[in-house]
Amino acid sequence: MFDLLLRGATLPGGQRGVDIGIAHGRIAAVSPGLEGEALEEIDVTGCLVTPPFVDAHMHMDYALRAGQPRPNETGTLLEGIALWGELRPELSTQSIYDYAKKLCLWSIARGTLMIRSHVDICDDRLLGVQALTQLREDMKPWLDIQLVAFPQDGFLRSPNAQRNLLRALDMGVDVIGGIPHFERTYEDGTQSIRQLMRLAADRGLRVDMHCDEVDDPNSRHIETLTAETVRLGLQGRVAGSHLTSMHSMDNYYVSKLIPLMAEAGIGAIANPLVNITLQARHDTYPKRRGLLRVKELQEAGIAVAFGHDCVMDRGTGLAATICWRSPAWACMLPR
Ligand SMILES: [Zn+2]
Repeated sequence: MFDLLLRGATLPGGQRGVDIGIAHGRIAAVSPGLEGEALEEIDVTGCLVTPPFVDAHMHMDYALRAGQPRPNETGTLLEGIALWGELRPELSTQSIYDYAKKLCLWSIARGTLMIRSHVDICDDRLLGVQALTQLREDMKPWLDIQLVAFPQDGFLRSPNAQRNLLRALDMGVDVIGGIPHFERTYEDGTQSIRQLMRLAADRGLRVDMHCDEVDDPNSRHIETLTAETVRLGLQGRVAGSHLTSMHSMDNYYVSKLIPLMAEAGIGAIANPLVNITLQARHDTYPKRRGLLRVKELQEAGIAVAFGHDCVMDRGTGLAATICWRSPAWACMLPR
Protein backbone atom coordinates (compact mmCIF):
# COMPACT_ATOMS: atom_id res chain seq x y z
CA MET A 1 0.00 0.00 0.00
CA PHE A 2 1.50 3.28 -1.09
CA ASP A 3 0.65 6.75 0.10
CA LEU A 4 1.30 8.09 -3.37
CA LEU A 5 1.74 6.45 -6.74
CA LEU A 6 3.11 8.33 -9.77
CA ARG A 7 2.19 6.64 -13.05
CA GLY A 8 4.14 6.89 -16.28
CA ALA A 9 7.11 9.01 -15.21
CA THR A 10 10.10 9.80 -17.39
CA LEU A 11 13.36 9.38 -15.44
CA PRO A 12 16.53 11.50 -15.88
CA GLY A 13 18.22 8.64 -17.77
CA GLY A 14 15.48 8.80 -20.41
CA GLN A 15 13.52 5.73 -19.28
CA ARG A 16 9.82 6.30 -19.94
CA GLY A 17 6.59 4.91 -18.51
CA VAL A 18 7.97 4.22 -15.05
CA ASP A 19 5.77 4.07 -11.93
CA ILE A 20 7.04 5.39 -8.61
CA GLY A 21 5.48 4.27 -5.34
CA ILE A 22 5.94 6.37 -2.20
CA ALA A 23 5.26 5.13 1.32
CA HIS A 24 5.93 6.87 4.64
CA GLY A 25 7.60 9.80 2.91
CA ARG A 26 10.11 7.64 1.03
CA ILE A 27 10.39 6.20 -2.46
CA ALA A 28 9.48 2.56 -1.89
CA ALA A 29 9.37 1.16 -5.43
CA VAL A 30 10.36 2.21 -8.94
CA SER A 31 9.27 0.07 -11.85
CA PRO A 32 7.10 0.05 -14.97
CA GLY A 33 3.61 -1.34 -14.34
CA LEU A 34 3.90 -1.22 -10.57
CA GLU A 35 1.15 -3.14 -8.83
CA GLY A 36 -0.47 -2.05 -5.61
CA GLU A 37 -2.96 0.33 -4.13
CA ALA A 38 -2.34 3.91 -3.21
CA LEU A 39 -4.16 6.59 -1.26
CA GLU A 40 -3.45 8.96 -4.12
CA GLU A 41 -2.46 8.29 -7.69
CA ILE A 42 -1.20 10.87 -10.16
CA ASP A 43 -0.77 10.33 -13.88
CA VAL A 44 2.56 11.98 -14.77
CA THR A 45 2.86 10.49 -18.26
CA GLY A 46 5.36 12.46 -20.29
CA CYS A 47 6.65 14.41 -17.26
CA LEU A 48 10.23 14.27 -16.05
CA VAL A 49 10.57 13.13 -12.44
CA THR A 50 13.97 13.88 -10.93
CA PRO A 51 15.67 14.35 -7.59
CA PRO A 52 15.37 17.98 -6.50
CA PHE A 53 17.68 20.54 -8.05
CA VAL A 54 20.36 22.20 -5.95
CA ASP A 55 21.15 25.86 -6.53
CA ALA A 56 24.69 25.75 -5.18
CA HIS A 57 25.47 29.46 -5.38
CA MET A 58 22.99 32.26 -4.90
CA HIS A 59 22.85 35.72 -3.34
CA MET A 60 19.36 35.87 -1.94
CA ASP A 61 19.98 39.23 -0.27
CA TYR A 62 20.56 40.83 -3.70
CA ALA A 63 17.84 38.96 -5.59
CA LEU A 64 15.24 40.64 -7.79
CA ARG A 65 16.75 44.14 -7.37
CA ALA A 66 17.51 44.74 -11.04
CA GLY A 67 17.52 48.49 -11.76
CA GLN A 68 17.81 49.44 -8.09
CA PRO A 69 19.10 52.06 -7.56
CA ARG A 70 20.01 52.32 -11.29
CA PRO A 71 20.93 49.99 -14.17
CA ASN A 72 24.42 48.51 -14.47
CA GLU A 73 25.75 50.51 -17.43
CA THR A 74 28.98 48.60 -18.03
CA GLY A 75 27.68 45.14 -17.23
CA THR A 76 30.83 44.47 -15.21
CA LEU A 77 31.18 42.78 -11.85
CA LEU A 78 32.92 45.86 -10.45
CA GLU A 79 29.96 48.11 -11.28
CA GLY A 80 27.62 45.45 -9.89
CA ILE A 81 29.52 45.50 -6.58
CA ALA A 82 29.46 49.33 -6.60
CA LEU A 83 25.69 49.32 -7.23
CA TRP A 84 25.16 47.04 -4.28
CA GLY A 85 27.10 49.56 -2.15
CA GLU A 86 24.75 52.33 -3.34
CA LEU A 87 21.67 50.27 -2.56
CA ARG A 88 22.79 49.18 0.92
CA PRO A 89 21.58 52.32 2.80
CA GLU A 90 18.09 51.80 1.34
CA LEU A 91 17.73 48.22 2.56
CA SER A 92 15.55 46.93 5.35
CA THR A 93 15.33 43.49 6.91
CA GLN A 94 11.74 43.19 5.71
CA SER A 95 12.50 44.08 2.09
CA ILE A 96 15.40 41.62 1.92
CA TYR A 97 13.15 38.95 3.44
CA ASP A 98 10.32 39.64 1.01
CA TYR A 99 12.45 39.56 -2.16
CA ALA A 100 14.32 36.47 -0.98
CA LYS A 101 11.09 34.69 -0.12
CA LYS A 102 9.75 35.39 -3.60
CA LEU A 103 12.92 33.83 -5.02
CA CYS A 104 12.43 30.79 -2.76
CA LEU A 105 8.88 30.31 -4.04
CA TRP A 106 10.04 30.57 -7.64
CA SER A 107 12.79 28.05 -6.89
CA ILE A 108 10.44 25.55 -5.32
CA ALA A 109 8.07 25.88 -8.29
CA ARG A 110 10.98 24.93 -10.59
CA GLY A 111 12.01 21.92 -8.52
CA THR A 112 14.89 23.46 -6.56
CA LEU A 113 14.68 22.29 -2.98
CA MET A 114 18.16 23.25 -1.78
CA ILE A 115 19.87 26.64 -2.04
CA ARG A 116 23.27 27.71 -0.78
CA SER A 117 23.08 31.49 -0.50
CA HIS A 118 25.89 33.88 0.28
CA VAL A 119 24.89 36.78 2.52
CA ASP A 120 26.84 40.02 2.63
CA ILE A 121 28.24 40.83 6.08
CA CYS A 122 30.02 44.13 5.33
CA ASP A 123 27.22 46.40 6.55
CA ASP A 124 27.35 46.68 10.36
CA ARG A 125 23.57 46.30 10.59
CA LEU A 126 23.75 42.72 9.23
CA LEU A 127 20.23 43.11 7.83
CA GLY A 128 20.75 40.30 5.32
CA VAL A 129 21.88 37.92 8.04
CA GLN A 130 18.82 38.75 10.13
CA ALA A 131 16.45 38.36 7.18
CA LEU A 132 17.93 35.19 5.72
CA THR A 133 18.44 33.28 8.98
CA GLN A 134 14.74 33.91 9.66
CA LEU A 135 13.80 32.87 6.13
CA ARG A 136 15.94 29.73 6.45
CA GLU A 137 13.78 28.69 9.40
CA ASP A 138 10.47 29.68 7.79
CA MET A 139 11.24 27.75 4.58
CA LYS A 140 12.37 24.56 6.32
CA PRO A 141 9.25 22.52 5.53
CA TRP A 142 9.90 22.95 1.78
CA LEU A 143 13.42 24.14 1.13
CA ASP A 144 16.86 23.60 2.66
CA ILE A 145 18.80 26.86 2.79
CA GLN A 146 22.48 27.05 3.70
CA LEU A 147 23.99 30.49 4.34
CA VAL A 148 27.55 31.61 3.67
CA ALA A 149 29.01 34.62 5.51
CA PHE A 150 30.26 36.66 2.57
CA PRO A 151 32.52 39.73 2.92
CA GLN A 152 31.49 41.32 -0.41
CA ASP A 153 33.87 44.28 -0.04
CA GLY A 154 36.83 42.15 1.05
CA PHE A 155 37.56 40.43 4.36
CA LEU A 156 40.66 42.60 4.88
CA ARG A 157 39.71 45.52 2.62
CA SER A 158 36.37 46.34 4.27
CA PRO A 159 36.88 48.02 7.66
CA ASN A 160 34.55 45.91 9.82
CA ALA A 161 34.32 42.71 7.80
CA GLN A 162 36.48 40.65 10.16
CA ARG A 163 34.35 41.54 13.18
CA ASN A 164 31.07 41.28 11.27
CA LEU A 165 31.91 37.87 9.87
CA LEU A 166 32.35 36.53 13.40
CA ARG A 167 29.07 38.18 14.43
CA ALA A 168 27.30 36.55 11.47
CA LEU A 169 28.65 33.12 12.43
CA ASP A 170 27.47 33.69 16.00
CA MET A 171 24.02 34.51 14.58
CA GLY A 172 23.89 31.08 12.97
CA VAL A 173 25.33 31.49 9.48
CA ASP A 174 26.51 28.03 8.37
CA VAL A 175 29.52 28.47 6.09
CA ILE A 176 32.57 30.80 5.86
CA GLY A 177 32.98 32.82 2.66
CA GLY A 178 35.64 35.08 1.21
CA ILE A 179 36.66 37.00 -1.89
CA PRO A 180 40.47 36.96 -2.14
CA HIS A 181 40.65 38.46 -5.66
CA PHE A 182 38.87 41.60 -4.43
CA GLU A 183 41.35 42.36 -1.62
CA ARG A 184 43.68 45.31 -2.22
CA THR A 185 46.71 43.21 -3.13
CA TYR A 186 47.42 39.65 -4.11
CA GLU A 187 49.21 39.19 -0.79
CA ASP A 188 46.11 40.42 1.08
CA GLY A 189 44.09 37.87 -0.89
CA THR A 190 46.43 35.13 0.28
CA GLN A 191 46.26 36.38 3.87
CA SER A 192 42.46 36.48 3.76
CA ILE A 193 42.36 32.83 2.70
CA ARG A 194 44.76 31.81 5.48
CA GLN A 195 42.78 33.65 8.15
CA LEU A 196 39.38 32.42 6.97
CA MET A 197 40.57 28.82 6.67
CA ARG A 198 42.04 28.98 10.18
CA LEU A 199 38.67 30.22 11.42
CA ALA A 200 36.89 27.37 9.63
CA ALA A 201 39.25 24.81 11.20
CA ASP A 202 38.78 26.32 14.67
CA ARG A 203 34.99 26.43 14.39
CA GLY A 204 34.55 23.16 12.50
CA LEU A 205 32.78 24.91 9.60
CA ARG A 206 32.67 24.54 5.84
CA VAL A 207 34.18 27.09 3.46
CA ASP A 208 32.88 28.41 0.14
CA MET A 209 34.92 31.27 -1.29
CA HIS A 210 34.33 33.49 -4.28
CA CYS A 211 37.66 32.68 -5.82
CA ASP A 212 39.44 34.06 -8.90
CA GLU A 213 36.27 35.55 -10.45
CA VAL A 214 38.43 37.44 -12.93
CA ASP A 215 39.85 37.02 -16.41
CA ASP A 216 43.45 37.32 -15.21
CA PRO A 217 45.26 33.98 -15.72
CA ASN A 218 47.62 34.93 -12.89
CA SER A 219 44.81 34.96 -10.35
CA ARG A 220 45.65 31.67 -8.67
CA HIS A 221 44.05 31.98 -5.24
CA ILE A 222 42.52 28.54 -5.81
CA GLU A 223 46.05 27.19 -5.36
CA THR A 224 46.30 28.73 -1.88
CA LEU A 225 42.77 27.59 -1.00
CA THR A 226 43.71 24.07 -2.04
CA ALA A 227 46.97 24.08 -0.12
CA GLU A 228 45.32 25.42 3.04
CA THR A 229 42.61 22.76 2.77
CA VAL A 230 45.24 20.03 2.91
CA ARG A 231 47.40 21.77 5.53
CA LEU A 232 44.45 22.14 7.93
CA GLY A 233 42.88 18.76 7.18
CA LEU A 234 39.68 20.30 5.76
CA GLN A 235 39.39 17.91 2.82
CA GLY A 236 35.82 17.55 1.58
CA ARG A 237 34.62 20.70 3.37
CA VAL A 238 35.83 23.44 1.03
CA ALA A 239 34.49 24.78 -2.26
CA GLY A 240 35.77 27.37 -4.70
CA SER A 241 33.02 29.39 -6.38
CA HIS A 242 33.35 30.93 -9.85
CA LEU A 243 37.05 30.10 -10.52
CA THR A 244 36.69 31.89 -13.85
CA SER A 245 40.40 32.62 -14.19
CA MET A 246 40.68 28.92 -15.08
CA HIS A 247 39.40 29.83 -18.54
CA SER A 248 42.53 31.91 -19.07
CA MET A 249 45.16 29.75 -17.40
CA ASP A 250 47.64 27.91 -19.58
CA ASN A 251 47.18 24.18 -19.81
CA TYR A 252 50.53 23.32 -18.27
CA TYR A 253 49.69 25.13 -15.03
CA VAL A 254 46.21 23.60 -14.95
CA SER A 255 47.73 20.13 -15.37
CA LYS A 256 49.37 20.69 -11.99
CA LEU A 257 46.44 22.49 -10.36
CA ILE A 258 43.64 20.01 -11.01
CA PRO A 259 45.34 17.03 -9.33
CA LEU A 260 46.04 19.27 -6.31
CA MET A 261 42.34 20.18 -6.17
CA ALA A 262 41.39 16.51 -6.41
CA GLU A 263 43.80 15.66 -3.59
CA ALA A 264 42.21 18.34 -1.41
CA GLY A 265 38.68 17.09 -2.15
CA ILE A 266 37.77 20.65 -3.02
CA GLY A 267 34.46 21.34 -4.77
CA ALA A 268 34.07 23.71 -7.71
CA ILE A 269 30.94 25.78 -8.25
CA ALA A 270 30.31 27.31 -11.65
CA ASN A 271 27.80 30.08 -12.30
CA PRO A 272 27.54 30.02 -16.08
CA LEU A 273 24.48 32.25 -16.50
CA VAL A 274 26.14 35.20 -14.86
CA ASN A 275 29.81 34.68 -15.65
CA ILE A 276 29.11 34.25 -19.34
CA THR A 277 27.82 37.84 -19.36
CA LEU A 278 30.20 39.33 -16.77
CA GLN A 279 33.57 38.00 -17.84
CA ALA A 280 35.77 38.98 -20.75
CA ARG A 281 34.38 42.53 -20.86
CA HIS A 282 37.83 43.79 -21.82
CA ASP A 283 38.24 41.25 -24.62
CA THR A 284 37.76 42.23 -28.24
CA TYR A 285 37.67 39.00 -30.24
CA PRO A 286 37.83 36.12 -29.64
CA LYS A 287 35.96 36.58 -26.34
CA ARG A 288 36.50 34.12 -23.53
CA ARG A 289 33.47 32.38 -22.07
CA GLY A 290 34.23 33.08 -18.41
CA LEU A 291 33.71 29.58 -17.08
CA LEU A 292 35.77 27.23 -15.02
CA ARG A 293 36.87 23.97 -16.64
CA VAL A 294 33.83 21.85 -15.88
CA LYS A 295 34.69 18.83 -17.99
CA GLU A 296 38.33 18.55 -16.94
CA LEU A 297 37.46 18.93 -13.26
CA GLN A 298 34.78 16.25 -13.49
CA GLU A 299 37.17 13.91 -15.29
CA ALA A 300 39.55 14.34 -12.36
CA GLY A 301 36.79 13.26 -9.96
CA ILE A 302 36.19 16.75 -8.58
CA ALA A 303 32.61 17.56 -7.56
CA VAL A 304 31.27 20.34 -9.78
CA ALA A 305 28.02 22.11 -9.00
CA PHE A 306 26.14 24.95 -10.66
CA GLY A 307 24.42 27.98 -9.26
CA HIS A 308 22.38 30.91 -10.47
CA ASP A 309 24.51 33.46 -8.56
CA CYS A 310 22.13 36.29 -9.54
CA VAL A 311 18.48 36.35 -10.47
CA MET A 312 17.44 39.77 -11.74
CA ASP A 313 19.91 41.78 -9.69
CA ARG A 314 22.40 44.59 -10.21
CA GLY A 315 21.81 44.56 -13.95
CA THR A 316 23.71 41.32 -14.38
CA GLY A 317 20.69 39.11 -14.08
CA LEU A 318 19.02 39.54 -17.44
CA ALA A 319 20.44 36.33 -18.86
CA ALA A 320 19.65 34.60 -15.61
CA THR A 321 16.07 35.78 -15.88
CA ILE A 322 15.67 34.24 -19.29
CA CYS A 323 17.42 30.99 -18.47
CA TRP A 324 15.69 30.76 -15.10
CA ARG A 325 12.87 29.20 -17.04
CA SER A 326 15.08 26.24 -17.80
CA PRO A 327 15.84 24.14 -14.71
CA ALA A 328 18.38 22.22 -16.79
CA TRP A 329 20.96 24.74 -15.60
CA ALA A 330 20.57 23.80 -12.01
CA CYS A 331 22.76 20.96 -10.83
CA MET A 332 21.33 17.75 -9.55
CA LEU A 333 23.04 16.49 -6.47
CA PRO A 334 21.89 13.78 -4.08
CA ARG A 335 20.55 15.05 -0.80
ZN1 LIG B 1 28.49 35.01 -6.07
